[in-house]
Amino acid sequence: MLALREAGVTVLDMAPVIDSAPIGPSLRRYANGAALVRSTLEPVAMLGLLQEIEAAFGRKRARRWGSRVLDLDIVLWEGGRWLSGGASRKALHVPHPAYRERGFVLAPTMAIAAGWRDPLTGFTPRHLHSRLTARARIPRDAIAT
Ligand code: ATP
Ligand code: CA
Ligand code: CA
Repeated sequence: MLALREAGVTVLDMAPVIDSAPIGPSLRRYANGAALVRSTLEPVAMLGLLQEIEAAFGRKRARRWGSRVLDLDIVLWEGGRWLSGGASRKALHVPHPAYRERGFVLAPTMAIAAGWRDPLTGFTPRHLHSRLTARARIPRDAIAT
């Protein structure tokens, strides 16, 4: 948060940190949080800033989902949808393409952006979170194949 403030970004709110198991090959657990920030930067410039902060914390970009010290993603922004960079690995998609399927993103997001709506589905972060956890509770043998 200090790094964001030092870069001129206003931090309006911060969610309590929760811990989660990694996705993919990483062996460590992660602390997950979310911040609501105000900035004049458009998403591409914001992502550039976030990647500079990751690098300053010692993140090396090796394989995807490998162990890393810090991962800063843009979950939502008030401008709705943002797509740039086409189909490349460096493309930027806002909302974050996977956030609806990640409880460790939705939980902190709903703590600080309760009134926001997902521009694709119209659901709030809390609604997306309850849909996700409801889906996870359906026993396997109850799903028709
Ligand atoms: P995941 O995307 O599944 O959360 P990751 O955060 O580990 O994985 P990274 O290696 O940090 O993936 O980033 C890979 C690319 O994801 C970046 O180069 C960036 O262009 C792209 N990207 C697309 N949408 C976003 C977003 N909303 N926020 C951050 N990065 C994004
Ligand atoms: Ca990520
Ligand atoms: Ca990332």
